[in-house]
Amino acid sequence: MLLTQVGTRGCIRAVSTALRHSPRVVSRDCRITVACSGKHTMAAKTVLIVYAHQSPTSFNSAAHKVAEEALKEQGCKVLVSDLYAMDFQASATRKDISGDLKEPENFKYGDEAMAAWQEGRLSKDITEEQHKVEEAELIIFQFPLYWFSVPAIMKGWMDRVLSQGFAFSLQYMYDNGIFKDKKAVLSITTGAMESMFFSDGISGDINVTLWPLQNGVLHFCGFQVLQPQIFWSIAHTPPNIRTVLLDAWRARLKGIWEEKPLSFASCALFDLSFQGGFRLTSEAKEKLNVAPYGITTGQHMGKPLPPNNQTKSENEAAKKISDILT
Ligand SMILES: Cc1cc2nc3c(=O)[nH]c(=O)nc-3n(C[C@H](O)[C@H](O)[C@H](O)COP(=O)(O)OP(=O)(O)OC[C@H]3O[C@@H](n4cnc5c(N)ncnc54)[C@H](O)[C@@H]3O)c2cc1C
Repeated sequence: MLLTQVGTRGCIRAVSTALRHSPRVVSRDCRITVACSGKHTMAAKTVLIVYAHQSPTSFNSAAHKVAEEALKEQGCKVLVSDLYAMDFQASATRKDISGDLKEPENFKYGDEAMAAWQEGRLSKDITEEQHKVEEAELIIFQFPLYWFSVPAIMKGWMDRVLSQGFAFSLQYMYDNGIFKDKKAVLSITTGAMESMFFSDGISGDINVTLWPLQNGVLHFCGFQVLQPQIFWSIAHTPPNIRTVLLDAWRARLKGIWEEKPLSFASCALFDLSFQGGFRLTSEAKEKLNVAPYGITTGQHMGKPLPPNNQTKSENEAAKKISDILT
């Protein structure tokens, strides 16, 4: 997927750079139009809540409403994508692209979506969501855990909205990612109780469960990923405790702009070339040999996983790794 971008490197770099400087960019044949002129004042922050639950009486709905209220109280502009209410299309198909396909006989969604994004040919629903993403400084994903992941409708939002060129490129990924000035947080309800997701629990370590979404989707696009808000086994939590949990979520949102993000491995540690296989450099490996555990949940290097890597931004393991590397 990424390999195909190399030929259009210059164009993608220009588009991505412009994107990172402007809240509204439309690219046509690699010519950049900055649609929002004038100074971007930062008086009020903009937050996008991407919300996936079918029922307005659900706990997810309550958590979403609490977030919306708390952020508005702070003076934030809150954009909401209520995916089921919008009947948001979950599958990435050729219907997402209008106009002539680049390779109609050999349809490749990623390449066609990137070309369509550059030329303003992506479907209206995707374009509207992309404008919301561009405007937002923080994105909250509010959802019930489905099969250790997001519900299909939210996965579809990720597949279709975070498209190649718009949200990532070979040049701009991970800590060099296009959205590196934006924050994102997963706010999740589960059926399982917390201990089921301990490292000796039946569901396995929650840090492993969160890795694909937090690293593979959000951090890959550059987002500063804040520690997840997890409402464990919410249907089996007594009503008064549920109220306390919602109050804690409200309180957290008051200080969310000052939160330190989770730790990920910096691109600087890797040989970012095809010859080097995008693997840790030998210098980095040598330094990290003394570490008692891997760098992250994913880059464990065959060592014990760094505890709480995907759940706590302030953690001893991250500090140890950072001390070794500096
Ligand atoms: C397809 C599928 C896959 C799943 N996969 C997993 C999985 O992999 N792992 C896992 O752990 N779970 C899984 N689950 C379970 C799922 O994650 C939970 O059912 C879900 O998280 C519960 O959240 P909810 O908002 O739907 O809860 P609800 O049942 O809507 O809410 C819980 C309780 O909170 C109450 N409530 C609503 N509003 C308020 C309020 N304002 N204040 C206080 N209480 C309130 C509700 O009345 C209800 O009693 C799966 C479920 C499905 C359908």
